[in-house]
Amino acid sequence: MHEKCGVVGVALEDRPAARPIYYALYALQHRGQESAGIVTHDGFQQHGHVEMGLVGEAFDEGDIADLAGQVGIGHVRYPTAGSVDSACAQPFSVSFKSGSLGLSHNGNLVNTDVLRSELADLGHAFTSDGDTEVIAHDLARNLLEEDLVEAVETTMGRIHGSYALTIAHDDRVLGVRDPEGNRPLVLGRLEDGYVLASESAAIDTLGGELVRDVRPGEAIVLDPDGTDYTAHQLVERERTGHCFFEWVYFARPDSIIDDRLVYDVRRDLGRALYEESGVESDVVMPVPDSGRAFASGYAEAADEAEFAEGLMKNRYVGRTFIMPTQDEREQAVRLKLNPISNTIDGKDVTIIDDSIVRGTTSTQLVELLRDAGAESVHVRIGAPPIVAPCYLGIDMASREELIAADRSVDEIRETIGADSLAYLSVDAVADAIGFDRDDLCLGCVTGEYPYEIAGEATDRDLDLPDRHVADAD
Ligand code: AMP
Repeated sequence: MHEKCGVVGVALEDRPAARPIYYALYALQHRGQESAGIVTHDGFQQHGHVEMGLVGEAFDEGDIADLAGQVGIGHVRYPTAGSVDSACAQPFSVSFKSGSLGLSHNGNLVNTDVLRSELADLGHAFTSDGDTEVIAHDLARNLLEEDLVEAVETTMGRIHGSYALTIAHDDRVLGVRDPEGNRPLVLGRLEDGYVLASESAAIDTLGGELVRDVRPGEAIVLDPDGTDYTAHQLVERERTGHCFFEWVYFARPDSIIDDRLVYDVRRDLGRALYEESGVESDVVMPVPDSGRAFASGYAEAADEAEFAEGLMKNRYVGRTFIMPTQDEREQAVRLKLNPISNTIDGKDVTIIDDSIVRGTTSTQLVELLRDAGAESVHVRIGAPPIVAPCYLGIDMASREELIAADRSVDEIRETIGADSLAYLSVDAVADAIGFDRDDLCLGCVTGEYPYEIAGEATDRDLDLPDRHVADAD
């Protein structure tokens, strides 16, 4: 299961948490459109509401009013082809001997099977095949003997993979980021409380200020009365494995992730793209919306080329990946983008996008631009070719579906029908993000991951968790 999601956690001094969580989920809607959910705690009991659909569809006024309590967590879940399933909607919640537990997870564990079967042998019953439930059961088990932070530390010693979590254990909310820091998680301060969220844009939406990123391997516990928090560095690694694709595609441009404003990174990526493989043309145009910041950086570096919006986006069409079949995906590109003929007719056109996954979008766009009268179509991509799947939470298609998995750049150019095609180098990506390339997860573009994944190569000496539940007793 590939879950690319958004998580939130809130503790307030003197007002219900449900509404700010609801707003924060709205701000994170781009991270997941399949389901939305909120779990709160009022000091006595837990309340929850989880539903399929967009945030605006999942809650009405009554639902928000019923979610009593000044602390809570929220979740939006990304749609994945074929697995539109309410059993996987989150937050996951469970009541057990030492209290109630709610869990929101962004990321993907890569040792779930081992853990699930170990826990099942110990008598734990599972209701879904998701990895979040495995984390919840493991935590619930530890909480019988340990306090919250110790229990989280023990679980972190067993799970391997990517996770940014917000957890509600009774009236305590905490945020946890995996030791590689693969998925983003930030801490923000509100006038009357604290908030944890996948992206800083959610904090802005609540009128708060960004305190800092939750550090890789760190847990941050919010005081139930919203007045303070405590930080616990539970696992330390020499190197991080931040997902580069968050900056390239997934996160909002107005979010700051690990100290870098996503918009700035994308503009720098665009500039680097021109420096590495600029081509002379009459107009430079973005593939909206994801290519916009890249194209403005590229056009600025190109100097004399005109920057034009030549493709109009129908903003009511969701991300193309919501379409489960190839036919539907192809139709969706035409539904989503329509060319403005005047800016294209008789011109040499360069289009800029952030990435090519299956090649559907670029193939359709090249055809669309030629139909609109383009003399030539040059495609520039602000990331390296995606050659391998993502196991850490981004729905990136399987190897067989990835257009770059077994083709050279020139073969891809031919397949998509462009006059020229160039991608950005891995080093330029690392430079623009501002991290050493060894501190990024580049698995989908190098085929080497900062995690142990069956059948795949790794790019480092791994500090693997002790995955035997029995040993930890
Ligand atoms: P494709 O048409 O399969 O080549 O996908 C590339 C297009 O989808 C680009 O315009 C990207 O902006 C966008 N994209 C890239 N990665 C993803 C993803 N994981 N989920 C949804 N859309 C994506």
